[in-house]
Amino acid sequence: MPLPISFESSRLRDPELLPIAEKLRAGSRLTGDDALILFRSPDLLGVGAMADAANRARHGDRVTFASNQHINPTNICVLRKTCVFCGYARLPKEEGAYRYSLEQVLAESDRADGTITREFHIVGGLDMHAGLEYYATMFRALKARHPHVHIKALTAVEIAHIARIEKMTRRDVLIALREAGLDTMPGGGAETFSAAVRDVIADKKLGGTDYIDVHRTAHQLGIRTNCTMLYGHVETLEDRVQHLTMLRDLQDETGGFLAYIPLSYHPDDNELGVTLGRQGIASTGFDDLRNLAVGRLYLDNFEHIKSHWIMVTSAVSQIALHFGVNDIEGTVVREKIYHAVGAHTPQGMTLPQLLALIRGAGKAPAERDSFYHVLRTFDDHVDDGANANLALSAH
Ligand code: SF4
Repeated sequence: MPLPISFESSRLRDPELLPIAEKLRAGSRLTGDDALILFRSPDLLGVGAMADAANRARHGDRVTFASNQHINPTNICVLRKTCVFCGYARLPKEEGAYRYSLEQVLAESDRADGTITREFHIVGGLDMHAGLEYYATMFRALKARHPHVHIKALTAVEIAHIARIEKMTRRDVLIALREAGLDTMPGGGAETFSAAVRDVIADKKLGGTDYIDVHRTAHQLGIRTNCTMLYGHVETLEDRVQHLTMLRDLQDETGGFLAYIPLSYHPDDNELGVTLGRQGIASTGFDDLRNLAVGRLYLDNFEHIKSHWIMVTSAVSQIALHFGVNDIEGTVVREKIYHAVGAHTPQGMTLPQLLALIRGAGKAPAERDSFYHVLRTFDDHVDDGANANLALSAH
């Protein structure tokens, strides 16, 4: 349930926000109608100030990040023709199609040589030749080569795909992958749950109810997961609220989500961007900040709200640290999926860059593990991170 927050209503310029501020002060849960007001209000700074107060009540000035590395083993995907917002996927014989061998995955896993990697974030396409054995073998080999690295892998959509091609239940796939080394799951593939939206942007993709169901099953098995919402395409504000409500309801039921990460739609190099006439016109900083702030206020049962700097830029992510965000995407090393649809951000960030970004917002950086335990703080303000204060290890 929400923590009561201390907040000065004199900071609000939109009178419609006053009853919401009153609820937040009392520690009352916001309704879907309240969330709609937050999405519609022209007073973004007022919405952000409330989200900042809610965030400070939980986390003070601390901002966490993970030393992570993205690995995308295959871009071959059976939904290549139907997810019209995606620029990453390829058909098997299409130019640019790839599927890593085990050796290539292991070589990729060594790319961050010289810097610490504590988490592999592994997602890819729905490839008919990347089934249970492909991923189980990969996870075992990664654990053998990097025994201390956490494996956060496979979206709900990929789990459902593996179950389908292996003729197994999703539950049994999760159990088998956990035995092979899967520790937690990322939150991608959610897009926006509304059936009307999915009909337009991804009509063959796993539906919202099934996405929730895979995450519920994972939580029941003790596998913690993350969740997302893709915004800024054809969805309405009501669709956004419905999506967030479904996430909040599952979190009430299981408590299994670690973090919520809103993801902005990128219109370049995909069919939807052409159809909408939106190429070169990505989401606005205004909308990026609002989605993060509303996530913090409406998802009152989520401890962590994360900004994905690859999608919204590092500049917006830095400002977001005052709009309810307590966690920021980590080092990444080599991002491919959003760069396939025109992301102009770097493909990775170094530790000193992350520290400078967080400190530049007046916040206190802390490196975390994949369960959000703080591993080390950097209280001595040494910019290269080499002399960082080793605070505690959760391992
Ligand atoms: S969004 Fe995912 S499922 Fe859809 S085509 Fe792209 S890789 Fe495949």
